[in-house]
Amino acid sequence: MTSEPETARERAVHQLEHAADLVDIDPTILQRLKHPQRSHKVTMPLKRDSGEVEMLEGYRVQHDDVRGPYKGGLRYSSHVTEEECTGLGMWMTFKCAVADVPFGGAKGGVAVDPHGLSDAEHERLTRRFTKSIRRYIGVNFDIPAPDMGTGARTMSWMMDTYSVYEDETVRGIVTGKSPDVGGVHGREESPGVGASIVAQRALEHLDREVEDATVAVQGFGSVGANAARHLDDAGASVVAVSDAEGGVYDPDGLPTHEIPSYEEEPGAVTSYSADTISNEELLTLDVDVLVPAAIGGVLTADNADDVQAELVVEGANGPTTGEADDILYERDVDVVPDILANAGGVTASYFEWLHGRNQRKWPKDKVMEELEKEMNSSWDDVVTKKDELEDVSWRDASYAVALERLAIAYSERGMWP
Ligand code: NAD
Repeated sequence: MTSEPETARERAVHQLEHAADLVDIDPTILQRLKHPQRSHKVTMPLKRDSGEVEMLEGYRVQHDDVRGPYKGGLRYSSHVTEEECTGLGMWMTFKCAVADVPFGGAKGGVAVDPHGLSDAEHERLTRRFTKSIRRYIGVNFDIPAPDMGTGARTMSWMMDTYSVYEDETVRGIVTGKSPDVGGVHGREESPGVGASIVAQRALEHLDREVEDATVAVQGFGSVGANAARHLDDAGASVVAVSDAEGGVYDPDGLPTHEIPSYEEEPGAVTSYSADTISNEELLTLDVDVLVPAAIGGVLTADNADDVQAELVVEGANGPTTGEADDILYERDVDVVPDILANAGGVTASYFEWLHGRNQRKWPKDKVMEELEKEMNSSWDDVVTKKDELEDVSWRDASYAVALERLAIAYSERGMWP
């Protein structure tokens, strides 16, 4: 009998419980953090270009706001469920706490195949979904952002729809918009660039030169392509990249800037070269650094023993199952967790949110400079905690940093029973 795969919520709760044993945290706060504060489910009609009307389900799960307004992406994917949004929302709470940005955690999305949407359908769906959840979001309450299947265009449509209902332009209602309508320059690159910065700091920690490192990246999308290109620019040799169709491999290194990313041309990675590999093969290649940057649950008990990388940097949210995490830790593979590795996205979102409030905008080099500073500072905090706790994983050390910050906020504000 095969058991059901672990859900994102189960994985997040398991990680939380594991790390909670390492820190002195009030059990009531721990209980609070195991549950979302609010969960909204909506159903909405989508009129297809053919004229047919389809009913779709959407969600916005608000996990915790003790450190600031709820913050987190919106995903368009056939796999979106309330359970998945709950796990992803929990990770947002911990990510914002590790990054020390004044936000809580939320996640949402619509259960729909984004590849099956024309541009006009994508716009109609986004405007209808915004109308459905507009009472549950707010500039000081819950600020959505892009995630898988959504992007700057989606966020600009959301901002416009929300503004129409408010009768004024409300730039701060979402982040990840186009820079032409209040988005921050570099937001698109920020999670991938942040993952690359953290990967470089981790290599340094292992006494390895980035110029000598080989890298494989699963998912050549917003996070993966930008991480691969930034690591390539830093001198690493990116030998394999993939998308949902499969991957390409060149032991001498791939020209990452020439291979079209998901946004530039969806599904085009495998057409770049004849030397193709499967996504499963990519995960177990003999490389120094593996960056899973596509979907959750790809490193499992079935393949964790075959991972040859010395360092795994989680570009995606939740790519490593609990069982795989234990196996990799036993095998001395360093796994830099999602809540630290891909926090560059929410950090740049924070800059954008501040700009929306102050009606100002930084040039891109200033955004990148500040992003680097923030990523380095989060990395340093986690290293300090890891040294203090001794013999713990990067994930546990990152959670410990987050839990202590959340516990302080709860004890300062008090929990109102
Ligand atoms: P994206 O839609 O831009 O790209 C996803 C990429 O993964 C595409 O290349 C797609 O072809 C590929 N892919 C999809 N299914 C796959 C599969 N089964 N096997 C291999 N590749 C597959 O998405 P994104 O925004 O880059 O998000 C990727 C991950 O990073 C998600 O887990 C997301 O939650 C996380 N993340 C995104 C952001 C952000 O701001 N975009 C920030 C932090 C974390």
